[in-house]
Amino acid sequence: MTDTELDLCSVTPSIGQIDDILKSRLDGGELSDKDVAMLLASENDDECRARIMRAAQDMRTHNFGTLIYLYGFVYYSTYCKNDCSFCYYRRSNTELPRYRKSIDETVEVAKRLAESGVNLIDLTMGEDPKFLDDPEALPALITKVKLATGLPIMVSPGLLDSKGIDQLAANGADWYALYQETYDKQRFEGLRIDQSAAKRLLAKRHAATSGLLIEEGLLCGLGESHEELLRSLQALRLIDAAQVRVMTFVPQSGTPLAHLPATTARRETLLIAIMRLMFPDRLIPASLDVEGLSGLRARLDAGANVVTSLIPPDSGLAGVANASADITNGYRTVAGVSETLEEAGLEAATPLDYVRWLEVAKWKRS
Ligand code: SF4
Repeated sequence: MTDTELDLCSVTPSIGQIDDILKSRLDGGELSDKDVAMLLASENDDECRARIMRAAQDMRTHNFGTLIYLYGFVYYSTYCKNDCSFCYYRRSNTELPRYRKSIDETVEVAKRLAESGVNLIDLTMGEDPKFLDDPEALPALITKVKLATGLPIMVSPGLLDSKGIDQLAANGADWYALYQETYDKQRFEGLRIDQSAAKRLLAKRHAATSGLLIEEGLLCGLGESHEELLRSLQALRLIDAAQVRVMTFVPQSGTPLAHLPATTARRETLLIAIMRLMFPDRLIPASLDVEGLSGLRARLDAGANVVTSLIPPDSGLAGVANASADITNGYRTVAGVSETLEEAGLEAATPLDYVRWLEVAKWKRS
């Protein structure tokens, strides 16, 4: 990072400067790291923020029209061998009821999600040794879910070796999601205890060579500086992730970070908007997993174009950052989000819309 970018991270820009950056970007100009630093520095200026949000919406409309993609989420095992300090499901947390769904139970939930109209099934688990030590388990699950639903599959199984990643692709997975959460070395070490940032990056690079699309993700709301955020956003430019997400940290009981204050989604929504301006043709989630349905509109207004973490009520499944919010009341469903989409002037994509986007995204990277 240059001294100029560092300086710009901490000086609130004028509305005129922000307007110039946004106009240039919407006219097809590049968004430099200097520009990104200035967008970050406008975090607490309401007028600048409003202009950034409007530009992000325009950028989404230009690239995706009014379509919003819908992801069904199946967290089929909450067992994990890791001890990430921010995560409710960390190995040493004893304050939660853990579960591991059978393949049949997982397929059944995936079918319900498909029938409800989602565009993709996201199969997520902690790094559960029962699955990871059995080389057949995950590939078999992917095959069965794909056959039963006919939908694209995203897999979030944690860090896999090259062979395991190849098997995902060979068995019909379309996406490999693996989140760095930050590109700041010290913060990574504090969040992903005893894990290797380099191995995670290598796994993503290998997934791309296997023909899988990659989702990368950042975590915010942990007191990070604008300089740290800029460093992470700069790093995202080097990874050809077809989907980039940012989520606000939610303090989890039974974890070392439980005492940290919960923050609002202001930073997350600014980052969503900046990501939209940096990566116009990528998918950017509005996750229901942070604030539930009440937080959806703000994320859509920031330029997000995917609603993630749709979970069938009464399925016995949990979320990740927000284990239970808005699940039993049915708000985290296709029907539950439809009114918010309509109010925002947006519409749910069909599975065919999504497959068309997916094929183009794969072709661009082949
Ligand atoms: S973030 Fe993932 S790898 Fe880390 S403890 Fe939680 S489930 Fe396990």
